[in-house]
Amino acid sequence: LLQPHQTSSNKWDTERRLGHCTNVPRNVNMESLQNDYLFPEICMRELEHNRKYPHAKLIRLGIGDTTHPIPPIITSAMAQHVYGLSTVQGYRGYGAEQGNMELRKAIAETFYNDLGVKGSEIFISDGAQCDISRLQMLMGCDVMMAVQDPSFPAYIDTGVIIGQAGKFMEETGKYQNIVYMNCNPENNFFPDLSNTPRTDIIFFCSPNNPTGNAASKQQLEQLVEFARANGSIIIYDSAYAAYITDDSPKSIFEIPGARQVAIEISSFSKFAGFTGVRLGWTVVPEELLYSNQYPVIKDFNRVVCTCFNGASSIAQAGGLACLSPEGYLALNGVIDTYRENAKIIFDTFASLGFKVYGGKNAPYIWVQFPGLRSWDVFAEILEKTHVITVPGRGFGPGGEEFIRISAFGDKNGVLEASKRLRNLFK
Ligand code: PLP
Repeated sequence: LLQPHQTSSNKWDTERRLGHCTNVPRNVNMESLQNDYLFPEICMRELEHNRKYPHAKLIRLGIGDTTHPIPPIITSAMAQHVYGLSTVQGYRGYGAEQGNMELRKAIAETFYNDLGVKGSEIFISDGAQCDISRLQMLMGCDVMMAVQDPSFPAYIDTGVIIGQAGKFMEETGKYQNIVYMNCNPENNFFPDLSNTPRTDIIFFCSPNNPTGNAASKQQLEQLVEFARANGSIIIYDSAYAAYITDDSPKSIFEIPGARQVAIEISSFSKFAGFTGVRLGWTVVPEELLYSNQYPVIKDFNRVVCTCFNGASSIAQAGGLACLSPEGYLALNGVIDTYRENAKIIFDTFASLGFKVYGGKNAPYIWVQFPGLRSWDVFAEILEKTHVITVPGRGFGPGGEEFIRISAFGDKNGVLEASKRLRNLFK
């Protein structure tokens, strides 16, 4: 089986032959990155498959991109804002770098009601992914970080780019200076903190991409306690909080004491279908201080003002409409349709006798294939069913033996995928 780096290096060879060499050395951190970023790699596999089977009806349950149209109440608010930009009264130029205060307050009320988060602690962004990078820039290259293994690839890759990661070790598939907190079915997808070394930063994503598991209140209390005992900062990614159906916390700030040790990043992408519109936010509590007592929020504000300049005013108008009572209700209807898809996929694999995880609190289903390599499973499913999934290995060494299936898609496509998968694995 062709591995991702082989495909990319062949492409690179071609580009090298066609190009012109400057005298600029390549950033050594960029050289340390492994493979191409996972999702473009999956797109390339899809293109190759399309070339091989031009008439096959491909079903995409791979990259976690939303598919359902955005409710008109939200798009009409954006359209109105856009038309206003062509009028003298409605024209707006640069806004506040931190975002529109009305939206910041609406986020505080909607998602952090009673949790003591103020609008002034919320920074509006152009998406969680961009704030992951800005937070890495904030922390710099001298901090050491821990990540869940498997985890969303951007945490590690941005750490590599900024120079935190150290050498890549082929034998383990891990970077020397990153602590990998293994999360698997045996430990209920929560790391054994008694064996986890201290790091400065702990990236923690719940509900988790890719495992689909949401950490319980008790587990998050342990995590906050661990960070407090070690003087660490948790960067908590709650991009999928809207998918939680049980009593798992939707924010790290539901945990007492978290304000002194945590930053939270979140997004309108999966909550509102804004993957293309681009809107997210980051909460930095005022109480969070560096070892020299300097407030982290002041430095983050500096990074945002220097490197960003604020989210699009059009996207922010849409964000406000998402948080109106009608907008919020409509979005929950959309999320319900993805939940139905998740149940169909979960039940399909469970009825075939697989060990299946996730799906209940997240739009991702995590299926185990004991003893198999995940890229092989991905390739076999694609070849025999024309269904795109994601190989678990793309999320770190802890993802080997698993594949991730996304519940984003239309119901008919999901039902058809379920039929094909049942035929393949019966
Ligand atoms: N965090 C997690 C865990 C994700 O899965 C994603 C996207 O899939 C992101 C962040 C990026 O979100 P955004 O579209 O807001 O940049």
